[in-house]
Amino acid sequence: MSQTSSGSPVPPAAAELPALRVAVLGAGTVGAEVLRLISEQDEDLAHRIGARLEVVGVAVRDTARDRGEHVPADLLTDDPASLVRGADLVIELMGGIEPARTLLLDAMAHGASVVTANKALLAQDGASLYEAADTHGVDLSFEAAVAGAIPLVRPVRESLAGDRIQRVLGIVNGTTNYILDAMTRTGASFEDALATAQELGYAEADPTADVEGHDAAAKASILASLAFHSRVRLSDVHCEGITQVSAQDIAAAARMGRTIKLLSIVERVAEENEERISARVYPALIPDAHPLASVAEAYNAVFIEADAAGSLMFYGQGAGGAPTASAVLGDVVSAARARVRGGVGPRESWYAGLDLIPLEELRSAFYVSLTVEDRPGVLAEIAGTLSGYGISISTIHQELLDPQDEEGARTTAHIGISTHRALESAMTASLDVFSSTATVLSIDSVLRIEGE
Ligand code: NAP
Repeated sequence: MSQTSSGSPVPPAAAELPALRVAVLGAGTVGAEVLRLISEQDEDLAHRIGARLEVVGVAVRDTARDRGEHVPADLLTDDPASLVRGADLVIELMGGIEPARTLLLDAMAHGASVVTANKALLAQDGASLYEAADTHGVDLSFEAAVAGAIPLVRPVRESLAGDRIQRVLGIVNGTTNYILDAMTRTGASFEDALATAQELGYAEADPTADVEGHDAAAKASILASLAFHSRVRLSDVHCEGITQVSAQDIAAAARMGRTIKLLSIVERVAEENEERISARVYPALIPDAHPLASVAEAYNAVFIEADAAGSLMFYGQGAGGAPTASAVLGDVVSAARARVRGGVGPRESWYAGLDLIPLEELRSAFYVSLTVEDRPGVLAEIAGTLSGYGISISTIHQELLDPQDEEGARTTAHIGISTHRALESAMTASLDVFSSTATVLSIDSVLRIEGE
């Protein structure tokens, strides 16, 4: 090989490198950006991989639609099943469970390595995909499935493979963060903030998967599986969304120096001789000073706590065509390099097989807001119920709701209580008592307090 003036060997021209056949399933928000990056960076990618990426087809539903210069019309097909069979690499960016699942299994059975951003599929049926990758000796990569552009899967699966992760705590859904951030900044209701997010393209027309927490739960199940070497399915994740978070909750949190965020939390819970894991998603109050409190708009951020590494924080764009395509391309380059050299990249392992701890057995601090009759003794009654279940109060805020009536007596009051850490089951039992007590007119919200 000849040398450059600096003495380093002159690399072969990209055109002389062997080609890897790449099938792309989907040319929507992410797929179109992946195709743009592959075509704009073809020379660089070829040199980094040691082979050219030759896109042999792009599967879409509507092959008649013009998709711009980076999605050539002659590559479009509505027959993804045939496309995946002749490929070395399959990039799945269709979304949904079927036909994506069958196509990926078929691609692997035919010897292709696959890259996907499909968190819903991985959370629901990752096990069969991981097994197929093992059986057929191919790669299954999914960096883009968790927090878009932010490198998380690789750090958890590879960089921290020699450490012991205790906890992953993060904001992994940009839509809900945008909505909660808007509510915090403007005092808007959930409904108004959602409408604005939809107008600006941060929320979909059907926002259910985001606002009900399902998207964040899918990511929590993927992170928990990797972090704790145990299989965690979507159905194992306790999931609460943000639809019940009110402007009053946001204001109450602010009064306490806290901010409400939708958190995904996966952690080890060690008790006596037993170690279990928890995976949960819910809106929670965190101190304003906590780094996650200042994560604004649609950004994502994730904290990882590991025994030797200590605390690590990852921050960036958790969605969007180009950011997500960056993560997809990272996986494509890794899988392609492995192909060129022969072999496969690192694998997940499930050796630990840790059980999940039911939510009722966890301990959290709580914020509870109640509307009560305003008469002497009510506070003592409420405090008595809580303390009867071993829950101690940290702060109480009381606000009279109705104007004085003719006799000068006030009728209702709103009380906001924050508690010290207590068992979930104890809080559930207290709430059962409140809901059957005449003095408690309504339980307006129950939120957990995290990050203290
Ligand atoms: P999208 O914009 O809805 O695009 C989906 C693409 O797949 C479209 O081109 C569609 O074809 C094609 N498609 C769907 N079903 C098909 C079928 N049965 N046969 C052939 N083609 C089919 O979706 P996206 O936002 O790019 O998301 C793709 C994946 O990335 C999803 O798994 C998503 O969860 C994940 N992801 C997305 C983001 C993001 O910011 N968007 C971030 C992280 C992860 P037509 O164009 O003809 O309809």
